[in-house]
Amino acid sequence: MPRSSQLLSSANLLPLDPHASSQLAAEWQSEVPVALQKNLWRLTAPNPSVMTGPGTNSYVVGSTEVGFWVVDPGPRDSAHQQRLFELTQGHIQGIICTHSHPDHSPGARPLQALCEQAGKAKPAIMGLPSAPTSRPDSHFAPERVLAEGEVLTLSSHFSLKAIHTPGHAANHVCLALLEDGVLFSGDHILNGSTTLIDGPDGHMGDYLDSLDRLDALCETHGIEFILPAHGHVLNQARAAIAHLKNHRLKREAKVIAAMRALPKAEPPEWVALAYDDTPPSLWPLALRSLLAHVQRIRELGLV
Ligand SMILES: [Zn+2]
Repeated sequence: MPRSSQLLSSANLLPLDPHASSQLAAEWQSEVPVALQKNLWRLTAPNPSVMTGPGTNSYVVGSTEVGFWVVDPGPRDSAHQQRLFELTQGHIQGIICTHSHPDHSPGARPLQALCEQAGKAKPAIMGLPSAPTSRPDSHFAPERVLAEGEVLTLSSHFSLKAIHTPGHAANHVCLALLEDGVLFSGDHILNGSTTLIDGPDGHMGDYLDSLDRLDALCETHGIEFILPAHGHVLNQARAAIAHLKNHRLKREAKVIAAMRALPKAEPPEWVALAYDDTPPSLWPLALRSLLAHVQRIRELGLV
């Protein structure tokens, strides 16, 4: 059986952003799983919105021989969990939640229940427990807590390495599929939108540190593709991470300039300066990111 890593040399097996490549005119839909390559599928939940983009991507890895992992079972949506069940025929070895936000983890228990009702082995729900800072709709207690750097295996074919990446959420974990050079980035890295850093569960300093750790992970394991929980596959993983970090640091520089220009002002007044390149209708959302920047700037004593 050819290893899927060999197939990655043909990058167009991974549908990238259709706007970047006219030959890949993938439309978003939630009915049919998209085969990204052999043994790897994306099924997008029917929850598109301003906050979730085209919807939450659930990823499925594995084969009928060795079983499957489901990464991010999505929001509680019976049709979505039924489709995940049908794709895997209930032969699920683990349901892994990148973090506890309501568009990612609430589908875990319904999917687990479908497997049990079908007489299949009960898949463990894995991830990291939510921190005390999480919102009431984001409480999460995995049955199996992933250790930092732990490598899960499905037979000898698939190895999934967990890395704790706080920043977007305190209990966020990213997962690298080592054989295929693929990173499941959850909400830490998105395609087509900017990750919201919303304190106190979100933390800008942690976010940037986690980006550095993901870059090191990509270098160590030759990871080329990032599969985000919202949006299309990103290629050139390390360049994408560097671009993201640069974007954040540029914004931070604008926030520092605003704080120095109006030292007695309140954060909403700094937004108008630091986000002058953003439509005012988005400033209420930008304020949350600005507060995360201000926290990091003050922690570092930059202003
Ligand atoms: Zn999230």
